[in-house]
Amino acid sequence: MEKIYDVIVIGGGPAGLSAGLYAARAKMSTLILEKSKVGGQISSTEEVANYPGSIEHATGPSLVARMVTQCKDFGATLDQDNILEIKQEDKIKVLVGEKNTYYARSVIAAPGAKPRLLDVPGEKEFTGKGVSYCATCDADFFTDLEVFVIGGGDAAVEEALFITRFARKVTIVHRRDQLAAAKSIQEKAFKHVKIDFMWDTVVTEIKGEGIVEAIVFKNVKTNELMEYKASEEDGTMGIFVFVGYLPQTETFKGLLEMDQKGYLITDAEMKTNVPGIFAAGDCRVKSLRQVVTAVSDGAIAAVQAEKYIENTFHE
Ligand code: NAP
Repeated sequence: MEKIYDVIVIGGGPAGLSAGLYAARAKMSTLILEKSKVGGQISSTEEVANYPGSIEHATGPSLVARMVTQCKDFGATLDQDNILEIKQEDKIKVLVGEKNTYYARSVIAAPGAKPRLLDVPGEKEFTGKGVSYCATCDADFFTDLEVFVIGGGDAAVEEALFITRFARKVTIVHRRDQLAAAKSIQEKAFKHVKIDFMWDTVVTEIKGEGIVEAIVFKNVKTNELMEYKASEEDGTMGIFVFVGYLPQTETFKGLLEMDQKGYLITDAEMKTNVPGIFAAGDCRVKSLRQVVTAVSDGAIAAVQAEKYIENTFHE
């Protein structure tokens, strides 16, 4: 007989790790399944300045490493698999993964979100060859080069500030005439000697031979196109794309209720429309997607999973 876990958490980002920690600490048998690398998006964040208590060594990876240790110390198991389908067999949830099939009394979906693409010619071709979605991972490849950061939200402006540590010049390219990022971050960017701005502008094409050599910009107000070429001396330049995120909820289509953008709908107790399946973190419809709200969701989901199991299996 296959093991039936009390809780299987799908996703190993802050929401999933928090859920795993709370579930395991409540002495529920807990499996956390991550499809690629634990940590999720926060792993590619250099500085986590706004997570309470995160002062010293407050990098995304260090925070994640401590969460993982804590989960394991409380007895949670972490494994790697990509869940493709969830079925119900009587009261048990059956999770069909790429590698294995798993059984659980309750499920906490915490699959997070992934970067939205620009969806322009050249973007896919030059990903990893000048186009990046992770400043922490790739900024140092652009030491002393010119970099364009696309987007106007918190991520674009924060990451642009980080990239100034490496790049010679950073231009934030935004399709509106003002930023959407928090005022405190905006002020830092406006004051920064290395940061410049291109307003009302989108990227329409990325060009080059093997590496990025030119970017075609379009002014959305005048429709004027402008091809910007890397200087001959540099030969290349960087494009960092931070234009928001898309929920990774494909697995749950047809099973869990979601909004038009694919974010999972829950109540305040993280309950989805299916009893025994909870959702936590950035995959959920919510107003603020931050580590602090993700870990809060995870904790609530785990406590609710415990109550659900108590009511459903221990009558
Ligand atoms: P976001 O707030 O959704 O901003 C996305 C930006 O990209 C917007 O300026 C948007 O412009 C632009 N955009 C969208 N599609 C585009 C396209 N195809 N071409 C060009 N521009 C496009 O996303 P985010 O900055 O990644 O942040 C996501 C969430 O994480 C937010 O809740 C944010 O507060 C949070 N976050 C917080 C921090 C922090 O507080 N330290 C850091 C990073 C992220 P429009 O306005 O025109 O749509």
